[in-house]
Amino acid sequence: MTTIAISVKDLSKKYGDRTAVSHANFEVPLGTVCGFVGPNGSGKTTTMRMLLGLITPTGGTGTILGENINHPEKYLNRVGAMIEGPAFYPALSGAENLRLLATLGGYAKDQVQGLLDRVGLGDRANSKYKTYSLGMKQRLGIAAALLPNPQLLMLDEPTNGLDPAGIQEIRELLRSLASEGTTVFVSSHLLSEIEMISDSLVMLRQGKVIFAGKTKDLLLRQQPIIIAKCSNSNDMVKLLEIAKSAGHEGSIIEGAAHILAPADWAPALNTLAFESGITLSQLSPVLPSLEETFFEMTGDDQ
Ligand code: ATP
Repeated sequence: MTTIAISVKDLSKKYGDRTAVSHANFEVPLGTVCGFVGPNGSGKTTTMRMLLGLITPTGGTGTILGENINHPEKYLNRVGAMIEGPAFYPALSGAENLRLLATLGGYAKDQVQGLLDRVGLGDRANSKYKTYSLGMKQRLGIAAALLPNPQLLMLDEPTNGLDPAGIQEIRELLRSLASEGTTVFVSSHLLSEIEMISDSLVMLRQGKVIFAGKTKDLLLRQQPIIIAKCSNSNDMVKLLEIAKSAGHEGSIIEGAAHILAPADWAPALNTLAFESGITLSQLSPVLPSLEETFFEMTGDDQ
């Protein structure tokens, strides 16, 4: 039995002359949460549509749950998906909508209440869909994707448009599904929204995979920096030299010295600068976000 939920090799999609996805390579192990991250238009939806057999790749190969993506009929009954926002009848309740989908899809209807409980909509099961908040609508979409009791759940931007509390609810739900053994492949245009629940990350940019690996490997590279500004801009280079002789590399970015050093070294830097006759107008220790760390690693300035 395979231990890999998703595997793609050189997967590509062109629309006419426009390349939407180019030679994508990555794997998602079973039972994990994988964040699929990239700006709008980077090819996330296109990739997910290829993985679900909704569109045909123009190049490369892939497998889902051990089956070739050329034969979606062999795996789709084990995959749940929510792509480009859920579509439901506004005048029907959440429970009625799910029962309808269960009937259409040939899934057990008696699981509807259990699924609504699982996504935290149990007490609003009989309210009309049109009265749901955006977060509740997304959660109902996830419940619908869970109808086939899938091994793999594929969600396209489930946190899009949600407020921080709504995002938190979705995160908790996905983590709890993963803890029950469901593999989750979830896209977002914001790394910060899914980094903390993702065991691994696939980062896409202009159709190309620019990072595929464990989130913790990215976290390990997260280095604290001290941002310092001098009242006299000529002193900036001198400040970098002082930092370097103390063992801390740095560079000047947008008129400020960015020195790779922990926050507790800031007072020492201040003293060293003062002793050299440099007056600092700003001294702020910061821990870059995972997104900034990544772009620093790859030398990509977004
Ligand atoms: P978003 O979050 O905005 O949907 P995305 O990362 O999911 O972004 P895609 O929707 O996959 O990106 O789009 C990738 C590229 O392919 C874009 O340049 C888009 O304009 C183009 N594209 C997508 N679908 C089609 C289509 N049916 N015909 C032509 N071009 C398309």
